[in-house]
Amino acid sequence: MAEPNLSIPLTASRIDQIFPTLTPAQIRRIADHGRTRSVRSGEVLVEQGDKDIPIFVVVSGELETVRPFGAHETPITTVPPGQFTGEVNTLSGRRALNRIRARQPSEVIEVSRGNVLALLQTDGELSQILMRAFILRRAELLVQGLGDVTLVGSNHSAATLRIKEFLAHNGHPYGYVDLDRDPDVQTLLDQFHISVSDIPVVICRGDTVLHNPTNQEIADCLGFNQAVDQEHVRDLVIVGAGPAGLAAAVYGASEGLDVLILESYSPGGQAGSSSRIENYLGFPSGISGNNLASRAYLQAQKFGAQMLLAKGTRLACDRKPYVVELGDGARIPALAIVIATGAQYRRLAIENLSRFEGAGVYYGATFVESQLCKDEDVIVVGGGNSAGQAAVFLAENAKQVYLVIRSGSLPETMSRYLIRRIEETPNITLLPRTEVVALAGGDHLERVTWRNNQTGKTEDREIAHLFVMTGAVPNTAWLDGCLVLDADGFIKTGPDLSADELSTAKWPIARRPYLLETSVPGIFAAGDVRSGNIKRVASAVGEGSIAISFVHQILRE
Ligand SMILES: Cc1cc2nc3c(=O)[nH]c(=O)nc-3n(C[C@H](O)[C@H](O)[C@H](O)COP(=O)(O)OP(=O)(O)OC[C@H]3O[C@@H](n4cnc5c(N)ncnc54)[C@H](O)[C@@H]3O)c2cc1C
Repeated sequence: MAEPNLSIPLTASRIDQIFPTLTPAQIRRIADHGRTRSVRSGEVLVEQGDKDIPIFVVVSGELETVRPFGAHETPITTVPPGQFTGEVNTLSGRRALNRIRARQPSEVIEVSRGNVLALLQTDGELSQILMRAFILRRAELLVQGLGDVTLVGSNHSAATLRIKEFLAHNGHPYGYVDLDRDPDVQTLLDQFHISVSDIPVVICRGDTVLHNPTNQEIADCLGFNQAVDQEHVRDLVIVGAGPAGLAAAVYGASEGLDVLILESYSPGGQAGSSSRIENYLGFPSGISGNNLASRAYLQAQKFGAQMLLAKGTRLACDRKPYVVELGDGARIPALAIVIATGAQYRRLAIENLSRFEGAGVYYGATFVESQLCKDEDVIVVGGGNSAGQAAVFLAENAKQVYLVIRSGSLPETMSRYLIRRIEETPNITLLPRTEVVALAGGDHLERVTWRNNQTGKTEDREIAHLFVMTGAVPNTAWLDGCLVLDADGFIKTGPDLSADELSTAKWPIARRPYLLETSVPGIFAAGDVRSGNIKRVASAVGEGSIAISFVHQILRE
């Protein structure tokens, strides 16, 4: 019933890492951070939906983790002496995904979330054991679809795909019930009084039913933001959790800054939509953008950074503390800000494009999309690395991939290794000097027309999947005129700001802006959103981390 989001098979060696048994010496060190208590058989230690969940180390007896759904429970695991509970929500402070109960009279060491975070930062050995277990447990919950949310939908519905992507990109485990394929679906529909026309439906914690909810409604129902204090003035607010923002968060939080990240969709940014990044240092066999992002996000959380899933809609930069305003009217104050809002895809100038977005037209090529076009023909539009990567990745599953580019050959913007891959992949056909000019279909894309701009000839094909990867525009519209931008809307920083521009912007202090500092002191820009940035994961990560050294200087000034 559940669709795999991560394919991590549960092997014997992994079982040891997912459920490690601590040594007596390790248990003693943990006990210094917690309190030992006795629990009765059947006592619930953590209820699904609880906030700020502690972990429990079992000294004697046994605990069990179960997934409640209405009156039913799915057993997940048992926790014998020497083992401990907890998974990544312990780090984030988000609500418990499942229920933890004593199977027999037991003695446990309870360690509060705050103390777990302290332990992770001070005890290298335990940090490695706990972090690895938390990450692998979450991966298993994702694979098995064992979380606090069930999605009832259809693979033919754009809204279902949107919800799946939102949950998957946020690393949130969910059960999926497919209206068209699942034999038990009617029982579920009857139980929750859902009619087929309500689809997609999200059932939160087995009780709250949301009909075709927005991403924000899902986040609210699951309590994504509830652990975050939005009032106090942070040392650093980072807007955008792509590679640049996450790098800034990891370095900032690990160096003792009070860091809050604001992210409108999910950690990872554009990189999160990449099926495999092969040119990022240290990953010789490549890493999926989602995997890289979730690791970085966990790393940031381990050092104490928090994330608010919310969109920055306005920057108030006329006095300190600066304020980032959010869509719901909240105002987040900060002494320093790193803007890392990146860029987003250009859309094709086709009249009915939006009708098929998510229903045949996609802007990312990840596992979720690749499963939708198994053994079918697909079109990828674009000549950059992202288009090349998508073409090679999709070719593994698709029947035929048509790579549509406007120029005469694969341009210099594509890395040589990708051009070679494309040439060597028999089921990729390059269509140079070509443009997609029309789309047609019912609820889903069914036909695509392309035109060869050299010959003027058009071709109509029955193709139901179009991947648009045609470059990006900066996410700077929300800055409300605070910062000096270049002609294309990217943020100018450091030496790129001329004396005239600084004077017009009323730069208020004697020194010139630091590298990566914008035309307002203490506000920095990093990554793709910055004018002159090299649009790569590595440069975004580099800039995000460099910005932190200047944030320290600002906070001292
Ligand atoms: C499909 C694809 C494949 C790629 N492959 C590679 C590759 O193999 N190697 C490589 O080096 N580079 C690759 N790139 C480029 C790389 O991903 C980008 O250069 C990098 O992600 C830029 O990072 P960033 O943090 O600056 O911005 P982004 O990744 O764009 O992240 C910006 C984040 O800010 C958020 N945001 C935007 N506006 C707001 C707002 N107002 N409030 C709150 N949050 C906001 C967005 O939701 C997003 O999460 C690829 C890009 C794509 C699209």
